[in-house]
Amino acid sequence: MDKVYAVLLAGGASARMGRDKLTLALNGKTPLARALEALLCCGNKPEHVVIAASEGCMEEAARLAKAHERVSVAPGGKNRGESALNGLRALGAREGVVAIHDAARCLVPAQVIDAAIESARTFGCGVAAIPVRDTLREASGACAPRDGLFAVQTPQAFDLEKIRAAYEKAGAGGESHTDDLGVWLAAGHEARYTLGDLTNQKLTYPGDMAFFAAVSRGETRVGEGWDTHRLAEGRRLVLGGVDIPFGKGLLGHSDADALAHAVIDALLGAAALGDIGRHFPDTDESYAGISSMELLSRAAKLVCEAGYTVGNVDATVVAQRPKLAPHIDKMRENLAEAMGCAASRVSVKAKTAEGLNAEGEGMCISARACALLKN
Ligand code: MG
Repeated sequence: MDKVYAVLLAGGASARMGRDKLTLALNGKTPLARALEALLCCGNKPEHVVIAASEGCMEEAARLAKAHERVSVAPGGKNRGESALNGLRALGAREGVVAIHDAARCLVPAQVIDAAIESARTFGCGVAAIPVRDTLREASGACAPRDGLFAVQTPQAFDLEKIRAAYEKAGAGGESHTDDLGVWLAAGHEARYTLGDLTNQKLTYPGDMAFFAAVSRGETRVGEGWDTHRLAEGRRLVLGGVDIPFGKGLLGHSDADALAHAVIDALLGAAALGDIGRHFPDTDESYAGISSMELLSRAAKLVCEAGYTVGNVDATVVAQRPKLAPHIDKMRENLAEAMGCAASRVSVKAKTAEGLNAEGEGMCISARACALLKN
């Protein structure tokens, strides 16, 4: 299957916004960060993304490149075409498919990116567009036919070698095109459209902010996790990363920290990323005896890479003995540190099972957790 790359165009001067629009705060994240995360998190994940950045957003672009492994920065050009060419050149001699996207279209849904990439894989070209739905009139009042007309968006995805050659040719010939499809067509290739989205608008005017703020208000996701481990002689008892003095400990492949495992499953579940067994299988020797705090921190990183931050986590440990109350605050601190959030976002509660069930009879300790993620 063709490898996927992306060029994120952030080279504009934001003249109509009056200040750099890509570094404005939009519900706690910049439009540039939102556009980048949309690309990084789509189904056809790019191997590498080049941000072609203007002076105005260079600092933010550099910060994002540092935070994400698959991202680098190239200088933007004097116009959109130059920025695209700089980005394509920065990808070097790679082969595959490239999605070129305007960072100002920071609300782009994943399915729009995926459709363009999949079309480029099959046909060499996939350009996000939506059929024009408004009546079009000239200033004179004459009605312009809208049948077969599309409002063209980005991403615009192409065979990487062909679009690079087309851009080199357009650059050498001093051609000027308003988008990548124009360059593609001028090189003699055919257009192929994929379905864009009404929300995939370009942040342009100060008055656009209300729409962008409303749409980007963020999704909240909830997940639940549950775990139980058998109590056995000769094991450490570790819960929430705290070593608790007790005659027995929990049996398992790692340190068997049932509380941490429940929290991991709640995080992964909220992001629909599978479960602890899928990411850290107990058949893998490298996880033998590993601290579950390390696993939790890796799970939190996966969730973060999928574009989410931890809203809050609430967990309950069910254990007949020992008494957990003295250790609760330390557990909250450990869990929060591993997830990279404040301890005030993490709640841990402890219950006995009133002598009932396997927990009540002291055969095992169980934990359950709920996690709320925001993006
Ligand atoms: Mg477990």
